[in-house]
Amino acid sequence: MRFAERMSRLGTETAFEVLARARALEAAGRSILHLEIGEPDFATPAHVVAAAQEALDGGWTHYGPAAGDPELRAAIAEHVARTRSCTVRPDEVVVTPGAKPILFFALSALVQAGDEILVPDPGFPIYASVVEWAGGRAVPYHLDASFGLDASSLRNARGAIFNTPHNPTGGVIDADGWDAVAALDLDWLISDEVYSAITYGAPHASALSHPRLRDKTILVDGFSKTWAMTGWRLGFGVMPPELAERVAQLQINCTSCAAAFTQRAALAALQGPMEPVQAMVAAFRARRDLLVRGLNELPGVECVEPRGAFYAFPNVSAAGNADQLAARLLDEQGVACLSGTAFGAAGAGHLRFSYAASPDHLEQALERMHAFFASL
Ligand code: PLP
Repeated sequence: MRFAERMSRLGTETAFEVLARARALEAAGRSILHLEIGEPDFATPAHVVAAAQEALDGGWTHYGPAAGDPELRAAIAEHVARTRSCTVRPDEVVVTPGAKPILFFALSALVQAGDEILVPDPGFPIYASVVEWAGGRAVPYHLDASFGLDASSLRNARGAIFNTPHNPTGGVIDADGWDAVAALDLDWLISDEVYSAITYGAPHASALSHPRLRDKTILVDGFSKTWAMTGWRLGFGVMPPELAERVAQLQINCTSCAAAFTQRAALAALQGPMEPVQAMVAAFRARRDLLVRGLNELPGVECVEPRGAFYAFPNVSAAGNADQLAARLLDEQGVACLSGTAFGAAGAGHLRFSYAASPDHLEQALERMHAFFASL
């Protein structure tokens, strides 16, 4: 079979490959502690599950409008307006199966051959992958020592992608960071805020709240992380209406629409009690403290305190090569994590741990790692 040339430019997400390897070892009888995959280990809130069941019984089992259920688009517009202190109209909202299609469709609609697009390094690997696939050139920018934006590494470009709170570091972009972005000459920017509800200090600062960025921002958010709904596949974007129309057109060409009954469940998530989300975030905070304290006690390991999301990104360069350490931790200790290089060249010397795992598993992982790092 002869594959299209563009396939040579498409990357992947290593987390899924490491998960598959870890599961294979588990199936062979090994005890594996899963700190590699980025998904809440909490159940989807009960009222959201009940709304989906009701929707199935009520016949929400057919095609719907490509851009999303109008009632849901209106509720998302209201939710985003409230959480970002700005005005949002329903015709700026598109609902997709997961947040990832917003990235894929928006970049497909915007990136021309040779366009330079700024992407974070380290950063979510899908950004550079889809930019290059679409014919653009992914130009890396970097983070500072506390994993905020390193403004000196930013420059003018056709477009840029930002992510706050940030995967893989847990860093956040604050108001000063957005000021630095606003000083750039960019046609558009994508602000991936899928972890916006999971912060531990100052409230989330959104690109949409910045008056000079509001109209050129494509917001990416969704239900996967906030409501522990990764398997439901439901995300959304907020973007200028003329782009929303094209993203909906791409959706017609690809998936037609997001599933109807899951969109009814999403409406219940937005309109229902927030206590389950708050309880989950409080639990993540306690786990972050447990993991970061434990990592900083390991010989040769230094970990910055993450301010959001559910990842820790310790520097392990004093202990050895991160690719080899990640492989050995899985093979010898049954601790599954990712090498920082899965997130770009600037991730070298780091490991990424997801603390969306039970405190018991985190403690066991720290115990195993203590023996391992002490033996190096
Ligand atoms: N953006 C970032 C930064 C992520 O870490 C992830 C998932 O890990 C996504 C987007 C994808 O979200 P979804 O599962 O809703 O497609």
